[in-house]
Amino acid sequence: MERMFDVLIVGGGVAGMSAAIYAKRSGKNVAIIERATLGGVVGTLNKIENFPSQKEIDGFSLAQLFVKQVNSLEIETIFDDIVSAKLDGETKTVVGKIGQYRAKSIVIATGLSYQELGKNEAEFLGRGVSYCAVCDANFFKGQNVCVVSRKGSGIKDAKYLSNIAANVLVLDEADMSIFAQANTVKNMNLLSNTTIEKVVGKDNVEALECLVGGERKTIKTNGLFVCLGRSPKSEIFGDKLETDRQGFIKTDENMQTSIKGVYAVGDVRAGVMKQIVTACSDGAIAGKKATEGI
Ligand SMILES: Cc1cc2nc3c(=O)[nH]c(=O)nc-3n(C[C@H](O)[C@H](O)[C@H](O)COP(=O)(O)OP(=O)(O)OC[C@H]3O[C@@H](n4cnc5c(N)ncnc54)[C@H](O)[C@@H]3O)c2cc1C
Repeated sequence: MERMFDVLIVGGGVAGMSAAIYAKRSGKNVAIIERATLGGVVGTLNKIENFPSQKEIDGFSLAQLFVKQVNSLEIETIFDDIVSAKLDGETKTVVGKIGQYRAKSIVIATGLSYQELGKNEAEFLGRGVSYCAVCDANFFKGQNVCVVSRKGSGIKDAKYLSNIAANVLVLDEADMSIFAQANTVKNMNLLSNTTIEKVVGKDNVEALECLVGGERKTIKTNGLFVCLGRSPKSEIFGDKLETDRQGFIKTDENMQTSIKGVYAVGDVRAGVMKQIVTACSDGAIAGKKATEGI
């Protein structure tokens, strides 16, 4: 089965849905291809306090507001998992597990994945465990938090957290003693050669069971930020697009990638912020630009 569209959006998170809304309102034949559910990461979040117009909202309700608008515009959603793409030439093709789809413009909105700790932290997601300091720091105002880091991967987030939390303790597998000596943030400390064995708590995170230089220790904390790195879901587009070192797709200010007619938006893009509001902004720009001249 092969179908043809004006604009195809791969990924139905908030970035993809914003692109679809703008593209469809330009009068074009638009579809979103999503492998799971519309809403992406936002649909899974407990509490959001920084999306303008919503003082506080749960992620599912916010995602549903986007879905409602997508449905009201009669934007088609195709449920398929895209596995490869052919992006050169006038017409672009993306290949899914179910079908093959062609379009004059493609918007890549596939998001990113966070490196997990691989212990029991998932049980405490939204109950003290977070993967995003900028998103969740404010929930830990005046509290003690830990940051799990790998060879310094969590330092930037720890510094951000130190402006909001009472104390920040960075737990790193590597020897960070040289860095610790040079560190001047007074409410931020570093513990080297430390691995987390288990997250402990009843309703929320209360402590971490760790091995510090091989010795078993329990560290009391109100929260754990997992800052082990993140990877864009850009691999299916291969080496055809220009990316940064981590694989985030580079674009110009119109969200156009190094290939004409191919746009990238939201968390998969090499942008400065990975937030809902910036994902929507990217989507709006790409959705509009993707319809021009086709
Ligand atoms: C724990 C946490 C808390 C956060 N809290 C906040 C917050 O409070 N405020 C805030 O502004 N931001 C927050 N964020 C960030 C925010 O969630 C993201 O910036 C936003 O979801 C990015 O949207 P997106 O559409 O780019 O990506 P995503 O939401 O990741 O959507 C990508 C979509 O693409 C689909 N997809 C991927 N690959 C394929 C494929 N091959 N074929 C078909 N479909 C595919 C996925 O299934 C997914 O639905 C938080 C993030 C996390 C992890």
